[in-house]
Amino acid sequence: SKPKDCPLAKDELGRYTWGFLHTLAAHFPRQPTETESYRMCKFINIFAQFYPCEPCRLDFQDDIKENPPQTKSREALSQWLCERHNTVNVKLGKPEFDCSKVNERWRDGWLDGSCD
Ligand code: FAD
Repeated sequence: SKPKDCPLAKDELGRYTWGFLHTLAAHFPRQPTETESYRMCKFINIFAQFYPCEPCRLDFQDDIKENPPQTKSREALSQWLCERHNTVNVKLGKPEFDCSKVNERWRDGWLDGSCD
């Protein structure tokens, strides 16, 4: 391990950022107001303009242009984000994640109790 805290490498930044984004989606209102839906959509578009990894953000911008943010509900947003992350996983040759497990992974903990 490194002796001091160091700037985030691309992979670390990605891990923390996905953690934040999936957790954000997992706690988005189940039935958002029009304003909440609109603002979350805005947030994602602005995030895509400033994510501090250029190849990452350029591909992400293209991806969300083709697949616009689904912000009508927590469930829709969580599934949409899982699909976007899977697009990146495929691009990087990583396994795809089973999106039916997104609430266990990011909100409730695994059904076997291993996170309790
Ligand atoms: P990560 O992919 O960081 O995933 C962290 C954890 O999330 C996993 O351990 C798993 O438990 C869970 N998870 C995995 N897939 C999903 C899913 N689909 N839905 C929900 N949870 C899931 N890196 C590049 O090298 N090139 C890029 O172009 C690039 N683009 C990126 C774009 C964005 C918007 C972000 C946020 C990151 C990007 N990254 C990119 C970083 C990359 O996605 C990974 O974060 C990094 O490679 C570290 O991977 P990891 O194997 O630790 O797991």
